[in-house]
Amino acid sequence: MIPATHRQIRLAARPTGYPRDDDFRIVESPVPEPGSGEFLVRVVYLSLDPYMRGRMSDARSYVPPVAVGDVMEGGIVGEVVRSNHPGFAVGDVVEGRLGWQEYALSSGKGARRIDPALAPISTALGVLGMPGLTAYFGLLDVGQPKAGETVVVSAASGAVGGLVGQIAKLKGCRAVGLAGTDAKVRYLTEELGYDAGINYRTAPNLDAALQATCPGGIDVYFDNVGGDVLDAVLTRLARGARIVLCGAVSQYNAHQVRGPANYLSLLVSRASMTGMLVFDYHDRFGPATAELAQWLSEGRLVAREHIVHGSVTDFPEVLLKLFAGENTGKLILATGAS
Ligand code: NDP
Repeated sequence: MIPATHRQIRLAARPTGYPRDDDFRIVESPVPEPGSGEFLVRVVYLSLDPYMRGRMSDARSYVPPVAVGDVMEGGIVGEVVRSNHPGFAVGDVVEGRLGWQEYALSSGKGARRIDPALAPISTALGVLGMPGLTAYFGLLDVGQPKAGETVVVSAASGAVGGLVGQIAKLKGCRAVGLAGTDAKVRYLTEELGYDAGINYRTAPNLDAALQATCPGGIDVYFDNVGGDVLDAVLTRLARGARIVLCGAVSQYNAHQVRGPANYLSLLVSRASMTGMLVFDYHDRFGPATAELAQWLSEGRLVAREHIVHGSVTDFPEVLLKLFAGENTGKLILATGAS
């Protein structure tokens, strides 16, 4: 039974620092009727991603921010409950960037049908979705790892980082991960197959810890965090190293973004640092997802999900888990909308 109204999370103000509850407004709106060529989706899983903080801000970025008053952007997995679209039938499971709400209308643009027989449907937000593709293209295309090389990954137990280390191992590399708790470091080495892990929060000397775990230097650094960790890694680069600039979660809530002080190490090491955006690889998503699904089905990839059960209104609180490092694996909110 489809209700007459549903809840949406709308941006109420541009946050300064960490987002707070009053930066958002919960709005009860009529459930829309699909027009010709549209379908209605009941949201089942909502994805929480660090990029969302950027969408709340009007600083220059690769896409415009969410306008104040608009529904917060976010990826979802849901079920088609009404359809006037020839390509999507009632009962289909879809993934798309349909926003923080309980029901969403789609024209099909940017939405894709999910095969529930392939893997649990929530994986469309993680290993078989944007984070998985980011790990895949960021490491393989930008990082260009070669067998025997040392790959260092920050936020290594997260949605993207957890996969980067495992793909590095599949390609014959040594993988060293940085994470923020001892439990996460154990997870890296005991469950994900990382060769070594460093708790960057408690290591007395991060440079020394990197030296001990990467005696031959760092060939590829997959940077998810920026800040002090990036500065420490810069001092340990091997000649010809590649830094994949994937994200900078340590800077997303900062009043002023801080760049690396040790950037001259790029010169000394003849190294490169390249920004990557997963959407640039859109044309190759199909085969890459198929390869990730193959590795997953063969048990060659572990893809832990951190699923919080709640309602769409829990968005602000659950989002903060990413910035407090409370998630291990892909952070997802499972809603009970019906
Ligand atoms: P994660 O699942 O890795 O969650 C974020 C993690 O970041 C936390 O668990 C925490 O782990 C770590 N963290 C939080 N605050 C800090 C801090 N101040 N300093 C250091 N580490 C911190 O998120 P995702 O895997 O979804 O995203 C990882 C990165 O990839 C982000 O930077 C994101 O923006 C980027 N990204 C980029 C894409 C692109 O196309 N370029 C696409 C998708 C993601 P810990 O406890 O270990 O500190």
